[in-house]
Amino acid sequence: MKQFNEKHNNVKMILKIVGPITLVVGLFLFGSVFFSFFNMSDPFNNNIFSKMPNAFIGIILSAIGSAMTNFAYMGTVAKYTADEMTPIASHVIKNIKTSLDEKDSNECPKCHIQNDLDASFCDHCGYPLKKLICSCGTQNESDAKYCKKCGEAL
Ligand SMILES: [Zn+2]
Ligand SMILES: [Zn+2]
Repeated sequence: MKQFNEKHNNVKMILKIVGPITLVVGLFLFGSVFFSFFNMSDPFNNNIFSKMPNAFIGIILSAIGSAMTNFAYMGTVAKYTADEMTPIASHVIKNIKTSLDEKDSNECPKCHIQNDLDASFCDHCGYPLKKLICSCGTQNESDAKYCKKCGEAL
C-alpha cells in the first residue's frame, strides 16, 4: 500500500511538471500558427494549410496538458479536503453515537445504575427516572425545578 502511494505521488509529481509544460507547448504551437495566419499578407498563398497539423497538435497538446495539470493539482486539493473532512466526520459520528447511547440508556442520575428503558423509578434507590420535558422541548432531570435550557419553572 505504501509502495502504491509513493508511486501514485511520483506520477502526480511528474504530472505537475509535465502537465503545465505540455499545456504551454500546446498553446505556443497553436498560437504560433494562429498569429502567423494574421501576419501573412495572403495566408492562402503562404501555404497556411501546411501549418494546420501544427495547430491541431497544439490544440491536442494543450488539452492533454490542462487535463494532466487538473488531475495533478485537483488531486492535491481533494486530498487536503479529505484530510480536513476526516476529523469533522469522526466528530459527527461520535456525536451521533453519543446521542444514540443516551437514547438507549435510562441511567439513574443519583446512583448511576442502568434501569429498564420504560422504568419510571430506579430499581436500586427508588429515584424518579422520568425526564421532565419543558415546553421548549428540552429534557430535564426528574428532580429539576427549572429548565436547564430556558429557565422556565417545571
Ligand atoms: Zn438509583
Ligand atoms: Zn425549557
